[in-house]
Amino acid sequence: MSMNNQGRPTGTGEAAPGNSTIGGIATISGDRGLDHEEALIFELGHGATGVDLPDVQIAERRLGGMRRMGEIGLPGLSEPEVVRHYVRLSRKNYAIDSGLYPLGSCTMKHNPRLNEKMARLPGFGDLHPLAPASTTQGALELIAALMTWLTRLTGMPAVAMSPKAGAHGELCGLLAIRAAIQARGENRKRVLVPESAHGTNPATAAFAGFTVDEVPALPNGRVDSAALKAKLGPDVAAIMLTNPNTCGLFENEIVDIAKAVHDAGGYFYCDGANFNAIAGRVRPGDLGVDAMHINLHKTFSTPHGGGGPGAGPVVLSERLAAYAPVPLLVADRNGLRLVEDAADAPQGARPFGRMCAFHGQMGMFVRALTYMLSHGRDGVRQASEDAVLSANYILASLKDVMTAPFGDGPCMHEALFDDSFLEGSGVTTLDFAKAMIDEGYHPMTMYFPLVVHGAMLIEPTESESKYALDRFIHVLRALAEEARAGRTERFAGAPRLAPRRRLDETAAARRPVLRWKKPDALREAAE
Ligand SMILES: *Cc1c(COP(=O)(O)O)cnc(C)c1O
Repeated sequence: MSMNNQGRPTGTGEAAPGNSTIGGIATISGDRGLDHEEALIFELGHGATGVDLPDVQIAERRLGGMRRMGEIGLPGLSEPEVVRHYVRLSRKNYAIDSGLYPLGSCTMKHNPRLNEKMARLPGFGDLHPLAPASTTQGALELIAALMTWLTRLTGMPAVAMSPKAGAHGELCGLLAIRAAIQARGENRKRVLVPESAHGTNPATAAFAGFTVDEVPALPNGRVDSAALKAKLGPDVAAIMLTNPNTCGLFENEIVDIAKAVHDAGGYFYCDGANFNAIAGRVRPGDLGVDAMHINLHKTFSTPHGGGGPGAGPVVLSERLAAYAPVPLLVADRNGLRLVEDAADAPQGARPFGRMCAFHGQMGMFVRALTYMLSHGRDGVRQASEDAVLSANYILASLKDVMTAPFGDGPCMHEALFDDSFLEGSGVTTLDFAKAMIDEGYHPMTMYFPLVVHGAMLIEPTESESKYALDRFIHVLRALAEEARAGRTERFAGAPRLAPRRRLDETAAARRPVLRWKKPDALREAAE
């Protein structure tokens, strides 16, 4: 472990000045203003305890050899110390509630507070997953209503609600495809994935037992459909295509591609993480999609990115609907209930199995449905249109100072830039991103998608005001102009105003330094 002169870990193997210095002298506590340093809870522990437990007199022989002989090393802290530890940690977390979060592909949009209010209603918030169906009819009705919204918005007949994230939804979709292929008595092993795909796509295909075959992209940022068609054959199980794709572009040959895949006997998995651009405007079912996950935590404003668990329901076409996993929501004369066992599934259903315990992320279902009901169908459509408008505003406002590889045409919900505007400036793409942190902005998605050199992918979402976008554009323009003029002062070694200076990213990943060494003065005081 390496320490800098304030006892702050740097992860770089060498000293980098932190910010807890006044005129070059480190603070005694190691803290900076009221912004406390945070040690691991195990390092904070000092033997106190928040609860007084009575001495338990259990006869030795009743415990046999199970009696613990030594300490197990739990951190000893009082209740307020535990609360402060976690509150301080939470305040170090950058969040959509603290500022603009322009991460491309992530749809970091505002989480309306009405969602939270609804999720805390005792009938939803205090529900136990094993409560009998006779006592949970309202919650089951809510799930049914959300299913109706999802199937109507996508134009698909069925939806599996239990997947707990986008990637989990991908797995669910591919397992349904695998079951459908097995039911046909076929052995199709290859899944085609465009090279611009999100990393979860090939990972999911491999995890589900398929081999991944990469399809190249065209210079216009779309998938090379001729190359894709040339790869189709009797061993192709599916394609996994993202639309709009990770370059922020609509795959305009999608209908044709879907038809070619179906003609070859394969299935069309669509990565729907970018549904925020098209919800209410385009129905994936009309495009020929067989399975698509919907990230409720992106498009439908449930928290994510450290803010909460996700939810990745998967809509399924007629060809795959029968294979949806349990639990299945069914209605009979006693009302709604969940079928938990494949053997009890209604006629025609052939569930491939289950994705998780229980029925999915109930809290997220409440939030997503609240969002839908408070927007209405026209409001969902307007949200998509505004997301696309915001991204195009950014693209049009910055493409003269930052280079945009596909800047000629409009984009969908994200604006893609590359780093050629930095060429010869002495400022690297990473410097540029880190300088944004000093300006109070979380960087955009960097170096992704991989098909564009030095990619910078900005997704402003519809929830930023024009004022916020103008301010962001102003800062980015100024940074880009300075960099192009070769004025590198701001960029070298950025960020300088953040709690941590730049880490050596390789060392930080390989040898993460998680401990904070107390400044010597404090350590001595404690001893
Ligand atoms: C976010 C995202 C995923 C994965 O979703 P998780 O909920 O993070 O698992 C997959 N594909 C794309 C294009 C995404 O943006």
